[in-house]
Amino acid sequence: MATPHHPADHTPVTGNPYNAPGGHGYHPAPGSFTPAPGGYGTPAPTAHAQPACRACGGRSAGNFKIRSHVGILIVMRFEHLDGPFCRACGTAVVRQMTTRALCLGWWGPLSLVIFNPFTLLWNLFSYLKYSKLPPSPPAPGHVHLDAGRPVLRRPHAYVALIPLAWACWVVFQIVAHST
Ligand SMILES: [Zn+2]
Repeated sequence: MATPHHPADHTPVTGNPYNAPGGHGYHPAPGSFTPAPGGYGTPAPTAHAQPACRACGGRSAGNFKIRSHVGILIVMRFEHLDGPFCRACGTAVVRQMTTRALCLGWWGPLSLVIFNPFTLLWNLFSYLKYSKLPPSPPAPGHVHLDAGRPVLRRPHAYVALIPLAWACWVVFQIVAHST
């Protein structure tokens, strides 16, 4: 009575959500599972095969995945955003997601040692790839994503100095006590 149902037809539900009486052996019609169509609003293909920027519709776009990472104690979240993006929008997303990783990605053991360094390195390569694209004006009626300031001019990025200093101190202690 008091249990609300969410009849989401694309979510496989264990058990019979409709609680049919005597439902022993009852199965919904086969083929009722329909894969959801592409969740992202990918830009409509143009006459050319070249992809357009999904943010501004700019014509010179590349598709390089951009990552971010959140690691706090045992909670880890791996985030990524696929293109295609033009040079300006790709740079904006790299800056935003890299700053997020620099601020929130250090606070668990595996995140500190493995996942966040990997994320930052990945974004460095993505940034280099996007910066090699030719500048592209946005489609009519659209604008580029706000690039904002470079990562190293964002105060949140400097939160990374805390785990960095701590890691240096730990390495120093290990070296100092092993000799
Ligand atoms: Zn763009």
